Amino acid sequence: MSTAFDVIIIGAGPAGSTAAIRLASAGWSVAIVEKREFPRRKVCGECIAASNLPLLDALGIGEAFDALAGPDLQRVGLFVGARRIIAPLPPMADARHRWGRALGREHLDTLLLARARALGVDVWQPWSVKHHDADGDLHRCTLTRSGEDADVQLHAPVLIDAHGSWEPAPRGGMHAEATRKLPHHNNDLLAFKATWRHAHLEPGLLPVLAFPGGYGGMVLGDHGLVTLAFCIRRDAVQRARAAHPGASAAQAAFAQVRAHCPGIGEVVDVATLIGSWLAVGPLQPGIRTAAPGDGHFAIGNAAGEAHPILGEGMSMAIQSAWLLADQLIAHRAQATAPLGMRSDWSSLGLDYTRAWRANFAPRVRFATVCAHLAMRPQAAAPLLPLLQRWPRLLTQGARIAGKIRQAAVSTSAGPGTLVPNPASPPATAPTSAGIHQEH
Ligand SMILES: Cc1cc2nc3c(=O)[nH]c(=O)nc-3n(C[C@H](O)[C@H](O)[C@H](O)COP(=O)(O)OP(=O)(O)OC[C@H]3O[C@@H](n4cnc5c(N)ncnc54)[C@H](O)[C@@H]3O)c2cc1C
Repeated sequence: MSTAFDVIIIGAGPAGSTAAIRLASAGWSVAIVEKREFPRRKVCGECIAASNLPLLDALGIGEAFDALAGPDLQRVGLFVGARRIIAPLPPMADARHRWGRALGREHLDTLLLARARALGVDVWQPWSVKHHDADGDLHRCTLTRSGEDADVQLHAPVLIDAHGSWEPAPRGGMHAEATRKLPHHNNDLLAFKATWRHAHLEPGLLPVLAFPGGYGGMVLGDHGLVTLAFCIRRDAVQRARAAHPGASAAQAAFAQVRAHCPGIGEVVDVATLIGSWLAVGPLQPGIRTAAPGDGHFAIGNAAGEAHPILGEGMSMAIQSAWLLADQLIAHRAQATAPLGMRSDWSSLGLDYTRAWRANFAPRVRFATVCAHLAMRPQAAAPLLPLLQRWPRLLTQGARIAGKIRQAAVSTSAGPGTLVPNPASPPATAPTSAGIHQEH
């Protein structure tokens, strides 16, 4: 069994598997470590913006996605109290992929990882990276698996954090401190999700819900299932639990959200809940560190996270993985060279960092503004008459949110081929230092 690779990727969400597929397609030896068995459900609104669909084609799962995903998402609705403001979503200028669609994470993540495996990626699942450190000039990851007596160690010159941001990062990881168990705060944002069969949601409509202390969204996805995912402050959940003694946190929070957004009842009242409610939190939206140096990089939520009100997290995951893979493929000879002959990691890292910031930092900031307005109905009240008068402001908001912006554009030439986004900074000498954290 080989334990030496060109690259080790921690986590097989959309970010990790995208990087694995692209690097394996370019001839890299890749190990990916995923702690959970797939298929697994995950807290997520499941909307995949149209900007990702050409990339899914290039990754080799486009056909399977087309066959499974829900209907085209052509309209957005803002549901605030009894008020509904509906507007068209902006289409992409791609005849095949004009609109986003929704697909359960139990399907999307499984498809991507299966594709990586088919390309020869060494998949360690269900194994967990416990910690990582340096061993000479290589990264060393120590893996553990419940029920196994011995740990396993993997080595590679390149290490990619794709472990998301909702659970503690492996020890030695750059976000280990930021993601360790933190004391609870009233303004912590907790996220919940549930799925229903036979719900009544108009196909193609993407309702965004705004209520005191939180926001959420509903979507019709694969197999005719409707998903509701929402974020809500911890103190709002505590009030909800006090008002609904005996209810679980999710049930109490849901009752609270329903009371503020009567439109939800019309969608799910006669529907059947599938499985149980899922919960994660607290979320930590903000910009983290994309490349701390020495062949160590972060993609997806591990690099930065937008408030999920925009539903752009998977775009940022897939497209940041794509940007990093571009850089690594372009510098492969140096990246995988023998000891002492490595590339200038700092310039590679800063090029990736700059590309990351140019493409995603505006989304993170715009999402923060939208989320805070949505959670504070009084502050947002003056905006509602404007939105009602000119609903296309919502269309414009979706544009600013990045719904049809591609950080990387695949061509029809197949996996691993792409045309860089002209908005991405060219791969030139570094000009700026690392990234800070924003909460
Ligand atoms: C309420 C809510 C709604 C959302 N709705 C949308 C939406 O509609 N559209 C959208 O695009 N985005 C949405 N998002 C955001 C989206 O879910 C995330 O941005 C996305 O999942 C990030 O992908 P990732 O690959 O970076 O991380 P993840 O998807 O979190 O994947 C990380 C993987 O790493 C694994 N892992 C973690 N630690 C280890 C370890 N130590 N060893 C091995 N494996 C490990 C985990 O098991 C996991 O499988 C939503 C988020 C929330 C909270």
